[in-house]
Amino acid sequence: MNEVKSPKKPLVYYYGIVLLVLVLLNLIVAPMLAQSQVTEVDYGTFMYMIDQKSIGQVQVEDNQIIFTDKNDNNKIYKTGVMNDPTLTERLYNSGAKFAKDIDQQMSPILSFLLTTILPLVLFIALGQYMSRKMLERAGGGKGSMMFGLGKSNARVYVPSSEGIHFKDVAGEDEAKENLSEIVDYLHNPKKYTQIGASMPKGVLLVGPPGTGKTMLAKAVAGEANVPFFSMSGSEFVEMFVGMGASKVRDLFKQAKEKAPCIIFIDEIDAIGQKRDGRIGGNDEREQTLNQLLTEMDGFEGNNGVIILAATNRPESLDPALTRPGRFDRRVPVELPDLKGREEILKVHAKKIKVQDDVDYHTIARMAAGASGAELANIINEAALRAVRDNRSLVSQADLEESIEVVIAGYQRKSAVLSDKEKRTVAYHEIGHALVAAMQTASAPVQKITIIPRTSGALGYTLQVDQGEKYLLTKAELTNKIATYTAGRAAEEVAFGEITTGASNDIEQATKLARAMITRYGMTEEFDMVAMETVTNQYLGGDTSLSCSENTQREIDRQVVALIKAQHQKAKQILLDNRDKLDQLAKFLYEKETITGEEFMAILNDKTDDTPEQ
Ligand code: ADP
Ligand code: ZN
Repeated sequence: MNEVKSPKKPLVYYYGIVLLVLVLLNLIVAPMLAQSQVTEVDYGTFMYMIDQKSIGQVQVEDNQIIFTDKNDNNKIYKTGVMNDPTLTERLYNSGAKFAKDIDQQMSPILSFLLTTILPLVLFIALGQYMSRKMLERAGGGKGSMMFGLGKSNARVYVPSSEGIHFKDVAGEDEAKENLSEIVDYLHNPKKYTQIGASMPKGVLLVGPPGTGKTMLAKAVAGEANVPFFSMSGSEFVEMFVGMGASKVRDLFKQAKEKAPCIIFIDEIDAIGQKRDGRIGGNDEREQTLNQLLTEMDGFEGNNGVIILAATNRPESLDPALTRPGRFDRRVPVELPDLKGREEILKVHAKKIKVQDDVDYHTIARMAAGASGAELANIINEAALRAVRDNRSLVSQADLEESIEVVIAGYQRKSAVLSDKEKRTVAYHEIGHALVAAMQTASAPVQKITIIPRTSGALGYTLQVDQGEKYLLTKAELTNKIATYTAGRAAEEVAFGEITTGASNDIEQATKLARAMITRYGMTEEFDMVAMETVTNQYLGGDTSLSCSENTQREIDRQVVALIKAQHQKAKQILLDNRDKLDQLAKFLYEKETITGEEFMAILNDKTDDTPEQ
């Protein structure tokens, strides 16, 4: 979100002004007011009043004498000082009382006005002013909290003015499908409440920056035609202690009044970071987070307020946030694949004038790994380039040129695969799938994609769900190990070179091989003796060895032998099916996605050429 925000002056600033005014009042105005009541008289009058014994109180100072009339205590006089040694004695004889601070004793009403009423008025005025300002930013709504402090500056979007719909978000079909249920719920909550189903209160949109999370949230509101309240996590915590919490409170109050509606919290990791294990944590953030949790727990599932939150660091979130009843649904918003990129380019190209012969497919292919925001930027850069050259239409060359401008700037940040890397990842992933398929003679995968993922994986394989399986045969387990090693094997077969890409596979294969030997009793040598016991089944499944050192050495040897054999087997399968490996890898490399059906179609295709693209 990149909305323009008016710069905020901290509250201290306003209260500082109030304080300054009060100090000035007390220093200058109050004495002046008091002074104005004092009547200045000449020394003669003073002496006359002494003689008449009509002095009430008297205060002799260095350069003036202040006194009151005995018969009229409200009247204060003052006169100059004369060299008059007997003055004190005469005053004493006249019955005058010697006093202090006569002139400071201003009328109690005035003093009350100045010290109590005035500050109060100023505070209220300030509060009203702030409240109005914040309401302006909120874009509507009425009513203010105490003195308007802590008014949420969540921006309310009137649905019609934003008007973003799912069709504006190109690609991201899975995310859209996921979110369409929420749209349906907002349209017709009764359908759900009747049956007793309740919607998740919070949905977490997880994905790299610029993949359209904000857009998707707006589109949900747009599709459901409900108000959209949006706020960024970092906005919650930038204010003073307590402000974040009261903003959350107010945000939810506003939202509940406007239900059904969407609350969108961008960068939720700014407030939702794990709390444990940090010394001197951020009080403000914790208060804000606590308030958010309280609000989420406080409303029932079916009041029509759905909270969408976005983050690109889901692993850093406090577990309290992701517990059931809070943000328990997670929608991945991944970087777009080739098709997605092409669609995004086309959506944004509608806003500019483009030559007819522009080939978006090629552009999309060249921009592997680019996010939606980067693609939008590429289109804009291309338009700027055309303007610089005084052309009225954007050309293919403009687009190709701006890919470099945009991507080069981002290359390190978002994982943009080089061509060679992409080819390697394609072979690696196909290697896994092909070996799996040859061993079981069935489609091993639903889908493989080779777009860098949020998790850091460069490729992604959606395994075929074979239903719950409780028993695995020894043959199945060894095949599994062969499949784990097949990614690396494919790299060896295709490039004669190995990469770091197999680290996770190695871990998995080793774990499985060890378990077969130490826990499942699947070797002749150890028969049914447990060499290892699981100590902590639910938390990570830690194991501890329970055998002699010699046996341990033997176990290690057997683990290596088992994996080596399966690795060899996988390599042989790939060598025997080299042409299929090449065809499949080429397909995946070019399309970046291959489905299970496509995979099997190529595998079972007896004519040896690549299918039409
Ligand atoms: P995020 O919230 O994930 O960081 P945004 O939703 O703010 O990303 O997206 C930033 C911009 O990138 C959008 O305004 C839009 O122009 C462009 N964009 C990102 N993803 C898409 C998409 N799938 N389709 C069309 N435009 C997109
Ligand atoms: Zn692998």
